[in-house]
Amino acid sequence: MSIPVSWRQIQRNSFTDWNALLSFLELDPVDGETILLKKSNFPLNLPVRLAEKIEKGRWDDPILRQFLPRKEEEIESPLFVLDPIADGAFRKEPKLLHKYEGRALLLCTSACAMHCRYCFRRHFPYETEQKLFTGELAAIRSDRTLKEILLSGGDPLSLSNAQLKALMESLSAIEHLKRIRFHTRFPMGIPERIDGEFLELLASCPKQIIFVIHCNHLLEFDEVVFDALKEVQKLGIPILSQSVLLRGVNDSVETLVTLFEGLVSRGILPYYLHQLDPVQGATHFEVSEMEGLEMMEALAARLPGYAVPKYVREIPHRPSKVQVTSCRVSSGRE
Ligand code: SF4
Repeated sequence: MSIPVSWRQIQRNSFTDWNALLSFLELDPVDGETILLKKSNFPLNLPVRLAEKIEKGRWDDPILRQFLPRKEEEIESPLFVLDPIADGAFRKEPKLLHKYEGRALLLCTSACAMHCRYCFRRHFPYETEQKLFTGELAAIRSDRTLKEILLSGGDPLSLSNAQLKALMESLSAIEHLKRIRFHTRFPMGIPERIDGEFLELLASCPKQIIFVIHCNHLLEFDEVVFDALKEVQKLGIPILSQSVLLRGVNDSVETLVTLFEGLVSRGILPYYLHQLDPVQGATHFEVSEMEGLEMMEALAARLPGYAVPKYVREIPHRPSKVQVTSCRVSSGRE
């Protein structure tokens, strides 16, 4: 009889040592000398499930490229900065960001199931001492304009079920809140995280829940991942997706058509395709807006409207995400 393995145990087996990863992927360490960034404040963290989907011996595999620290991260550009979307300016409490009208974002944790090299919060000075959300909840309670709380981070699914339960119960008790939105990338790496206890937590929440998954390539999915997401959908919770347009990962019409087709076939609606946030260390991922617009035009011609996400970028201090359109950059609504 096999012993069930908890998601925490699975997480502990993630690749955090590049030597072990190279050996697993049959990549030549001699080539690694010119490619790898061996020391980084944002270290390698890659779940085994995703590593198993990487083609052996291929440095430019689209999954590997998202997670492997590369020397290109040392390229400096004055346009690529530590806090590209000015999160710091909107920090109302140590773990609460309030940027847009009617919704605020809780930085639930600094931890993630994986470390995406292009992450716009990779340099963010997270508050890690305080485990509770006392000040944040008080601020949410006192602001009756707030209708929705986004659980983000880090990845909110890094919290234990007990921590999430306490947080969701506190949020549920705030009358003026109508919705709780999860922003997560966890299920693509460790779908076991969507366990029975977590599903019960979602099912018993009196507020409308919305799930937004972050995914960039259909290779990140498999039947186990889709099955886990299906359990969330069965509760009547809508799942939307957001992706980042990334050089060498998904910068082709074919890749994006395959991704969005694959998602809508499972009832997941593509919500946003983000222009890369210019964070220090991520210059090598940039795709120009001109290229992005050409791809969007091709997507619109090949997919039904509901399968085409909004192509957006974040411009600090604007009242919403900004939609990148075919002939201009104009204010769009979130
Ligand atoms: S999972 Fe999200 S928050 Fe975590 S490193 Fe990736 S992009 Fe950043």
